[in-house]
Amino acid sequence: MGDSTRIIGITGGIGMGKTTVSNYLATVHQLPVLDADLIARAAVEPGSPILSQIIDRYGSTLLRLDGSLDRAKLGTIVFSNPTERTWLEQQIHPFVRQTLKTDCNRLAQIHCAIVLVIPLLFEANMTDLVTEIWVVSCPESQQLQRLMQREKLSIEQAQARIQSQMPIAQKRDRANLVLDNATTLETLLHHVDRALLKTS
Ligand code: ATP
Repeated sequence: MGDSTRIIGITGGIGMGKTTVSNYLATVHQLPVLDADLIARAAVEPGSPILSQIIDRYGSTLLRLDGSLDRAKLGTIVFSNPTERTWLEQQIHPFVRQTLKTDCNRLAQIHCAIVLVIPLLFEANMTDLVTEIWVVSCPESQQLQRLMQREKLSIEQAQARIQSQMPIAQKRDRANLVLDNATTLETLLHHVDRALLKTS
């Protein structure tokens, strides 16, 4: 168990194909997948200490009628203010890190490979949690198009989201493996099959 387990960290730009890759690894290759975004959502569930801290700071107008966090409203605060964004990340990232670590240790007892999808793998300094880094990457024009289509965003909104992240070129430089998602899904998934066969 343990030390020989492959822990694959998947990251990349927003909308470049991380979920497409991790869904494939889960369904076709039967690998367990941990998703940092889902854990970050769980961190602010009603009743959580982190949600209380958020409400202490910004007020209860951030709560919906059912007591859940209005993430879009919070987004408008932190998106336009780097200090607040840093504050929020300081609340949430340690929870995400700890949860990933605990879940990974548990899964490493029974699996020889585990997949961690961490959109902010580099930005949040979580590279130590994985044994190899795969960056899913596509040209920015394609990213913009996919993002606008899926999220129904204007070009300006989509560009703002892209620009809030570390440039993809820097992520590619730090990858053990770059999964090129510039063409068809079939090509991407074929890259994934080959990547799994490689021993790093
Ligand atoms: P996010 O950062 O928002 O979580 P993501 O990196 O997980 O996004 P996906 O959700 O996998 O990205 O892909 C973004 C969108 O682009 C999806 O609608 C997906 O179906 C589509 N997509 C991904 N790869 C391809 C491809 N090669 N050809 C066509 N569409 C694709």
